Amino acid sequence: MERREFFKRAAAASLASAAPASGAGQNPTQTGLSPQPVIERTATGQPGKGKVFALVTPHLDDGPIFAGGTVAKLLNEGYTGYLIRVSNDEKDSYNLTLGQTVLANEQDTAEFVKTAGLKKWYDLSYRNHGLDDVSRMEIRVRMIFLFRLLQVDTVLSYDPWGHYEENPDHYVTAQAVEAACWMAGDHLDFPEQFEVGLKAHSVSEKYYFARGPQLVNRVVDIGPTLDQKVASIRSCKNMIDNMVHGVNDSLAAKGLRLAAFLPADSQSASEAFIQASFVARDHAVGAKYGLEYAEEFHYIGPDHTLDEYIARHATPV
Ligand SMILES: [Zn+2]
Repeated sequence: MERREFFKRAAAASLASAAPASGAGQNPTQTGLSPQPVIERTATGQPGKGKVFALVTPHLDDGPIFAGGTVAKLLNEGYTGYLIRVSNDEKDSYNLTLGQTVLANEQDTAEFVKTAGLKKWYDLSYRNHGLDDVSRMEIRVRMIFLFRLLQVDTVLSYDPWGHYEENPDHYVTAQAVEAACWMAGDHLDFPEQFEVGLKAHSVSEKYYFARGPQLVNRVVDIGPTLDQKVASIRSCKNMIDNMVHGVNDSLAAKGLRLAAFLPADSQSASEAFIQASFVARDHAVGAKYGLEYAEEFHYIGPDHTLDEYIARHATPV
């Protein structure tokens, strides 16, 4: 993520209410074009047991900031989770060299994976801020490989239809994820992968987040997992430090200072920044839906088009 642009969601509600009717052949349940967002609350038991999710983001901090509460919720409910980090995060530090930046963010990624409770992470290692100059097909194939290898049921990623996204890493990742989700289930897409034992497997559930306006149809109650989310954000230490320095520099240019954000590299400054930026934002989002803290998504679920017909007519073989 960039240190700017946390709060571009203002038009989301009006966009959602202006959602167009689904076109011919589209299933409103599958595409999620329902008029009212579904509130997803903490489930009892372990309904996610045996299921796998992949958090697929170009940068380390994208997931913790936009979906950290939902990631924790899914893990608490029994999911096995993986992180696929698409870029090498070489541009996100305050005063490190490019090489030092790659290493610092790699070390923080390890810390995030451990803190969040993810099973493993994969780095695709494309150059940060340059994903729009990489073959979309190459990224897609690598994702299809991983979705098949890990048998991913659910993805969390940027919304490929999110509006006003300025970072090419975000929208290129989002488009690659969206295409890979269904192509991973096709027997004619990259069939040579089956020769090494992989099986076709499409991703049936998607939680898409956005920095700008998006069609919000799913709101996850993250009150019970807020502390886990904050711990995940905190593990992105180098990036948070960069954000705090950025705010301090911009205030200094105006002759201002925030005592709580000083000194910039201190733990207390990081904590104050996380509270003022992300916790406050999640609280404001939650207030729209009568929740204490929430994360918004465009959710696309399994296709239920034939469920009723199957229930009525299917017979045992
Ligand atoms: Zn990002």
